Order: sequence, then structure tokens, then C-alpha cells
Amino acid sequence: MAQAIYLDFNATAPLREEARAAMLAALDHFGNPSSVHAFGRRARRLVEQARLQVAALVEAAPAQVIFTAGATEANATVIMGSGRERVLASAIEHDSVLSAGPAVRVPVTGDGVVDLAALDRLLAADDRPALVSVMAANNETGVIQPVAEVAALAHRYGALVHCDAVQAAGKVPLALGTLGADLVSLSAHKLGGPQGVGALVVRDGLPVRPLLRGGGQERRRRAGTENVAGIAGFGAAARAAADSLSAFAGLATLRDHLEAQLLAAVPGACAFGAGAARVANTSCLLMPGVAAETQLMGFDLAGIAVSAGSACSSGKVTPSHVLLAMGASEAEAEETVRVSLGWTTTAQDVGRLIEVWQQIHQRATARTASSA
Ligand code: PLP
Repeated sequence: MAQAIYLDFNATAPLREEARAAMLAALDHFGNPSSVHAFGRRARRLVEQARLQVAALVEAAPAQVIFTAGATEANATVIMGSGRERVLASAIEHDSVLSAGPAVRVPVTGDGVVDLAALDRLLAADDRPALVSVMAANNETGVIQPVAEVAALAHRYGALVHCDAVQAAGKVPLALGTLGADLVSLSAHKLGGPQGVGALVVRDGLPVRPLLRGGGQERRRRAGTENVAGIAGFGAAARAAADSLSAFAGLATLRDHLEAQLLAAVPGACAFGAGAARVANTSCLLMPGVAAETQLMGFDLAGIAVSAGSACSSGKVTPSHVLLAMGASEAEAEETVRVSLGWTTTAQDVGRLIEVWQQIHQRATARTASSA
């Protein structure tokens, strides 16, 4: 069913007009970018132009960008191919990091910020070569992580540093040099590009063990014929996102208004991570006493798309590992929904969400009171 109000940008963002135009133009011209003839050279030009645009988004050099089939692949390439004996990952990383290999989980504070003192202790406790993976911003809470501090600390121990910047790219300014990470993962569809395209950005001189082997594409770092149209869309979206960073930052006004209204209206409601610096669009909201599934159904019936902080796989809803790591109880984690705004969001959309949120809460509490 088409949703009237889309507030799930952290799951995937709508395709930007610039990305659609670039993809349609690319689809009209076939050619393998590895072919030396004119068809191939044209496809190659599209890929290289996108590489410039994606590199610019994170102030990297084009040669540092490896295109992949999404951030899941970029993360797996790093975690599975680092050659490091120990992997330390923050406890709030995306599952594509946590499932890619056994990782020592670095705890976070109650606000969802990685605990630097704990990271220091974990690094000091074992002198085997390590890889440290800490995301730039969390997908559920939007909390921004101190990646530069993590990198400075980890580098003192000779560790490699990976940053999953999927939820920060296009939302806050990012520069490879300032982040200090050796490897950075990006995803096109979170910033208005197509799904199934991403990139791994690699510090100069750092060898990358390819996850996929075969052809010599991407300077022998990722085999497989490039997804030319997808990559062209990624490039155009990256450029549009870089050009609209200040507009994105303005979403904080709508998000803060939303939280102020809901927290004032319902005792016990809270926004996880609100005490820390966050990307402007994300709110992780606890509606006390109401299961996330009930909330999602209520929002869906009202034509509003949001998502649960809990992961639902094979019909079983498990409480979010992010919220549990922040010290939330299972019950709280199961009553939390994520709202993520974007460039199509209006004040009316947020007004409607506030209205429906309160209706869902009132209905659920009235039901509980009558069955008591
Ligand atoms: N990392 C983070 C923080 C994400 O939010 C996501 C998407 O949900 C991914 C990685 C995976 O990205 P992709 O869908 O491009 O594989």
C-alpha cells in the first residue's frame, strides 16, 4: 500500500530526482566499463564521474573509492578481510558488521555513545593486531559517535579503524581526514540513490583483500562488472546530498518539536539518545505500555510509515541490541519506534504524526484500563 507520509528515511530514502535522471541516462547507453571500445569508454566515464562525486562527499581522492553492491558488502569486506586477529566493534553496530565475524563488543553509554575508556581498556588488554569498527551515526538513535577520538586512540595501539558512515553521509559533513578512519563504508540508498550500491573508501596505500574475486575491476579490490546505472545514480545522489547538507540540518527543528510535544503529552515517554549529539532527522521514541507492533499497525492504518527499533526476522520480534546496549529494558526496547525524517518531510507530516501517536497511546491505555 502506498504510504501517504513516509518517515522511514533511515531504512531507505526515496530516489532523488538527480539520481533518477542519471540512472535513466546511463540505462540508455550500454557498454562494459572494462571494454576498450567506444561503448565501454562511455560506461567507464559514467563510473569515473560517479567516483569523483562519491569521493567529494567524504573529501577523499577518487582512487580511494571502491564501488560495492551496498554497505553490507563494504562492511563484510573489511571485517572478513582485514587480516587482523581481533575485531573490536561497538555494541551498537549494524548487524552487517556484528554478523561478519566474531567481535569483542565495546560498550556504549546510556546515551548511546561508544565508551572510549572501555575501548582503551580492551585495546590495552590484548596486544594482538586489532581492527576497531565504530559507526559514524547510529541507524536507530541517530547518535553521532566520536570517530576521530576512536581513531586517535586505536591508532596509538596500532589498530586499523573502520567506520560505517552509512547513516551520517549526506546528513552531516564528513571528511576522511577528519574522521581519521582507515576504511569507511557508504550506502547509496540512504542518501537518495538506488538500493544495491555502496562504496568502501580506503586510506591511501592500505591493501584490501577482495571479498569477491574474478575480474580485475576496481583496481583488483572488488571483482565483478560494475553496476553502471546504479553507480551513476549513487554519484548524482551523493552530489545532491552534499549540496543540501544545511537543509538537512534544518530537520532538527521539526524533530525537536515532535519530541517536545510527545514527551510533554505522555509521562514516561522518552527519546533515546536525546542527550547526545544526533543527526538531525532521527528520533527513537518510547511509547510506554504500547508494543511497537501495535504502534506500527496504528501508524500504518493512518498512512504513516515508521519502523520498529526491534528487528523482526522470521516472524520473531527481538528487542533492539542497540537499545539494550544503552541500558534499556527488554520491555522498553519492545515499546520503541524509530521516526526518521528527510527532505520530503513537512511540518504537516510531523503534526499528523504527533496527532496519531497520541491517538494510539490513548486507545491502548483505554483498552488496558477497561480490561483491568
Ligand atoms: N550500516 C548501517 C548503519 C545501516 O543502517 C545499513 C542499512 O540498514 C547498512 C549498514 C547496510 O547497508 P546496505 O543496505 O547498503 O547493505
